[in-house]
Amino acid sequence: MKLHIESTKIDFHQLIRNSLNSIWIIGKEGEILYCNRACLDMFKVTCSKEIISKNIWFFLHPSFHEKSKARLERVLTNNETLEKIEVQMIRNDGEIIDVEVVTLPFYLENKVFGQVIFQDITLRKAAGQLLKDREKLASVGQIAAGIAHEVKNPLSSVKGFLQLIKETQSHPYFDIMEDELEKALNTLQNLLQVSKPDLHDEPLIPINLCKELTSLINLFQERLYSIQVELDLRDSEMEIIGKRNLFQQAFFNLIKNALESIEDKGKIRIEHFYKDDLIHIKISDSGLGIPKEKLKMLGTPFFTTKSEGTGLGLTQVFTTIHEHHGNISIHSELGVGTTIHVQLPVKKCYHLT
Ligand code: ADP
Ligand code: MG
Repeated sequence: MKLHIESTKIDFHQLIRNSLNSIWIIGKEGEILYCNRACLDMFKVTCSKEIISKNIWFFLHPSFHEKSKARLERVLTNNETLEKIEVQMIRNDGEIIDVEVVTLPFYLENKVFGQVIFQDITLRKAAGQLLKDREKLASVGQIAAGIAHEVKNPLSSVKGFLQLIKETQSHPYFDIMEDELEKALNTLQNLLQVSKPDLHDEPLIPINLCKELTSLINLFQERLYSIQVELDLRDSEMEIIGKRNLFQQAFFNLIKNALESIEDKGKIRIEHFYKDDLIHIKISDSGLGIPKEKLKMLGTPFFTTKSEGTGLGLTQVFTTIHEHHGNISIHSELGVGTTIHVQLPVKKCYHLT
């Protein structure tokens, strides 16, 4: 027979204490009278006294104080249950977190208190933002590729007619015109290649990225007199499955950027290791670094800060990594350097027979 537990016998405090949601009971002035265990994890404190000795204003980001005071008033005087809102709170270690909060009245011994139920949504928000950024990047890439395609055809015919004219007539400007057209067509071709990597229709094969990285570095011999390269390639037997040419091009682009970021002398470090079912590749340089406000622009077609740059390198890198279900993150500090961290899913060493 199924066991039935009468609700009057349930130790509700046990439920609340172990709830995954953080819960406070608060008084009129925002003093915290009770907090459950989830609050300790959330604010990174070890003991509930560190929370109960304070009031909610201590944890709530100052930009939300005014709004929250008005909300608390509504709960305590009108006994209203309030709609869910997003606020920011400050953890014990100073970190600001995004939090979703519901506030409602809590009745105890003929008095009304505020019950605040909240959860940390920082990771959820960051994941949402990442997805939006990726979608934006993908659509900018698609638009750019679409335009490239449309412009390439008329330009090609202009080039054809120019060649025809050149057969019967001569003019000193014809060669310059042809060169310029060639440059424009090249740019468009590059753009088409980087924004639509599937055009190559390459087969998926096992790739040993340690080998690829070592051969790529050798392509930059002449820069390596003034730049010290440190290779730390661990777990070198591991392989990923993917399109080899795309990866060669992508890591070439990353190493090239790292080298170009160093004006005179400096150092780059390339790391390869396996952790948590992923191959991690980190390319760090002691170069100029990237200003914070420009970080968001990286990967957008044609975004470049170099006079001779194309702004297509990172577009190719991002599309390739994402196409292979990988992830790329960039940490940079002005004047100190940049680290590009690529993570790719791995199948343990495949041996082709
Ligand atoms: P390009 O190299 O042609 O400019 P990319 O797409 O490869 O185009 O890079 C775009 C921009 O990103 C660069 O112009 C540069 O401003 C910035 N960038 C990329 N990698 C680095 C790096 N390792 N250090 C500093 N800036 C970088
Ligand atoms: Mg580049």
